[in-house]
Parts: sequence; structure tokens; C-alpha cells
Amino acid sequence: MFFNQLGQYSSAIHYAEILKNSKPSKRNTCLANGLAIEAQLGLNQLEVDSPTLQAAVASCDEEVIMESFIHSFIATKYLRDGNTAEVYDQLKPSLETIEKTRYPRLIAEVYATLASAYLQDHKIGEARLLAEKIVNLAKGLGNTQAVVTAYKVLYQIAELSGNYKAALDYHVKYAQADKAYLDDIKTKHLAFQLAEHQAAEQKSRITLLDRQNNLLLTEQQLAKTQAENNRLFISLLIAIITLLGFWAYKSWTIQKRLKQLAEYDALTHVFNRGHFTQVAQSALTYCESSEVDLSYILFDLDNFKQINDKYGHACGDWVLKKVAKACQAQGRKNDIFARIGGEEFCIALPGCDLQTAVKLAEACRKAISGIDCSATGHEFEVTASFGITDTQMSGYKLERLINDADSAMYQSKETGRDRICIFDPEAKRTIPQASHTLLSL
Ligand code: GH3
Ligand code: MG
Ligand code: MG
Repeated sequence: MFFNQLGQYSSAIHYAEILKNSKPSKRNTCLANGLAIEAQLGLNQLEVDSPTLQAAVASCDEEVIMESFIHSFIATKYLRDGNTAEVYDQLKPSLETIEKTRYPRLIAEVYATLASAYLQDHKIGEARLLAEKIVNLAKGLGNTQAVVTAYKVLYQIAELSGNYKAALDYHVKYAQADKAYLDDIKTKHLAFQLAEHQAAEQKSRITLLDRQNNLLLTEQQLAKTQAENNRLFISLLIAIITLLGFWAYKSWTIQKRLKQLAEYDALTHVFNRGHFTQVAQSALTYCESSEVDLSYILFDLDNFKQINDKYGHACGDWVLKKVAKACQAQGRKNDIFARIGGEEFCIALPGCDLQTAVKLAEACRKAISGIDCSATGHEFEVTASFGITDTQMSGYKLERLINDADSAMYQSKETGRDRICIFDPEAKRTIPQASHTLLSL
């Protein structure tokens, strides 16, 4: 109805279709048909003899107002075509019914069409009567085409009858009504355009919001992916750190093991000859620069070959381990104790004088001879022969210290074993020590 009033007939047809299809009912079909016909006639798309018109009238057999409107639309078309007889045919038979509806807009429209037809046919009296009726109805109608037509008819009648003053008055009213009607239409147009603009604006705002929404969703997705990447990165980092830690630990244990293998004797777990040489060398250098003594004890197990031969190599190994352990227990932390040959051991004592070295050698000798060998399942004794020297007699050269201690040790062997001999630099001979007795220096 709104679009028909604005003359936007295409939109009116569109909405009539929607009304007909979305909520099909007899009443909606009738209303949709009637409004579609008004639009199609407005567009000049329908001929008056079109079956569509009859079908529309038939669909409104229970809707008096719309049926009457359809007659009114058809009559208006006939009027435009100049066929006044058909105008009367369309409207007159149902005029009484139309008036009974007491619907001013419908009645005014029908009156206006009839009045215009009467005027065309110079039926002045009937035309004036209907035009005046419309003017009387005008208060309840607002600005309508019917009122405009009524004043137009009245001014033309006055003009025809030569009453120019009345004609002028009616013309003024006709002009006013026409202007008001057009203003109304204009206002509706403006409102419609405003609404259309607002709708377009809203649509573009919705599109913008949709885009922003999509952007936010993408950002959210991105943040999620970044968080996942960060988590992955952290996991990877932890894995790498763990691997590195494991690798570092592994290489540290390997290093330790290699150091152990390089520095210690595998059987007795005391220093081996190579490492002893290094450590003793450093100790000698330090003692020389600090002008302190270093004593050196060398001992060799007595008749060890016989133990091996009699009780087996494993028993010999057991003895070697026991000897190392027993002697290690006698010394101090700073003593450099090593196995330098098969059954030969030595102890370098940095910062120790000869007397202290003799005491330690004696303690070791006793400890060795006190070893209880019954655990091997055999009964035998272990003894060792000792040779001692110090830096005062042999100087700070390791090789000489070893040689001199070796001479003293052989002196012990020669004089009966299980004893201690001190190197004598003067005689280039060692002083034999009485077995189990300390030399009083
Ligand atoms: P002496 O009192 O003159 O020193 O006589 P000895 O029998 O101890 O000396 P000898 O040099 O004749 O024998 C040393 C033996 O030590 C020979 C060798 O089989 C043994 N031996 C060397 N290293 C090891 C070892 O690691 N384990 C065992 N079980 N025996 C070893
Ligand atoms: Mg030997
Ligand atoms: Mg020996």
C-alpha cells in the first residue's frame, strides 16, 4: 500500500508477492491480488479485459473493501482511457455496498472517479453532487488524490457555468489540495529515501562489523597458533636442554672414567706409575721452590712370585689389593701413593723429613706383615722390603730419588727382606735396618 501510494509500483508488486506466498490465506491472497493489480495498472501493464482482473475480483468475494477497491482501480483505468460507460458499469452496481462500508478513503476514491466521468459526460449535477460529498468527507481523509479531483471538478464546473469567482475560489482550493497532496507524497518519498539510506548504511555497517569480526577471529586464530607454537618451542627447548644436560652428564662420567683409567691402577685403585710421575714431579718442584724436604719410600713384596706360583695369580692379585689398602690407611692425605711396578709400590711425602718417612715405612711394613691371608683359603705370610731416601740426600730430581730408594730397597732384600734401609749418600751404600726395628736417627 505504501509503495503504491508513492507510485513505486515494482516494489509494491514485489511485496504483494511476498504477502501472497509467505502467509497464504484467502484474505492475504485477496489483498495481495488487489494491491498487485493497483500496481500493474499504474505501470500500464494490464489491459482492462485481462483475466487477471476478474480473477482478482473473484479472490475477494469475502472482502468487500478490497473487491470495491479493485473495481475502483479498473474504473480509474477506464476513465483514463475515456470509456465513461465502463466506469459507471464498474462502480454504480456496487455503489450502495461501497457506501455501506463507511470507509472514507474508498468512498472518496469511487466518488472522485465517478465525478470525473460525469464531468466528462457533462452530467454537471451528478458531478457536483459527488465532488461536494468528497469535500465533506475531506476532513477525515487527509491529503488524498480524491480531494484534489473533487476541487478540480468543482472549479471546472464553476468555470463551465461562467461563475469565475467561484471557479477561482475552487481553483485556489484545488491548487492547495494538490500541493498538500504532492507535499505528502514528497514527504513520504523523503522518508522512504531516508529509510533506504539508513538501511544501506546499516547494511554497510553490518558488513564492516562482519569484516571486523572476521579480522578478530583471524587474530584470535593467529594468537592461538602463536601460543601453540610457543608451547612447541618451549617443549623443544626443554627437550634440547634435557638432551644437552644428559649429554653433559654422560660426557662428564666418561671424562671421569677416562681420568680414572689414565691416572689410577685398575687393580689396586692407587695412582699408576705415569700419574705418579706427574704428581711427584710437581710436588718436587714445589718443595724445591719452597725449600722444604720431600721423602721417598719404595717397597717391593718379598718372594711374591712364590705366592703366585703356589696359590695362583688370583691370590696374588688379592694380596696386591690388600697391601695397597693397608698402606693407604697408614699415610696422610697429602702422601702420593702409587703402584709403580708389578709388586712394587712407592710413597712420596712432600714436606716430610726422613724420620717421619721411616715411621711411616715401619707402619706400612707392620701393616703388610700383619695381613691375615686366611680369607684366600691358604696360610702364608706377606712381607715387603723398603728403601727410603729424601731430597737432602738425593736432591730434587725424581729419577735420582727413585734410583737411590731402589738401591736402599735392594739393600733390604740383600740383608734378609722384611726390613727398611735408608739410602746412604756418603758410602753410596745403604744402611741395613734390623728386622722389625727402627733406626734411631
Ligand atoms: P723378591 O723377594 O726378590 O722380590 O722376589 P719376588 O718373587 O717378589 O720377585 P720376582 O721379580 O721374581 O717376582 C715378581 C712376580 O710378581 C712376578 C710376577 O708374576 C708377579 N706379578 C707382577 N705383577 C703381578 C700382578 O699384577 N698380579 C699378580 N698376581 N702377580 C704379579
Ligand atoms: Mg719386584
Ligand atoms: Mg718382589
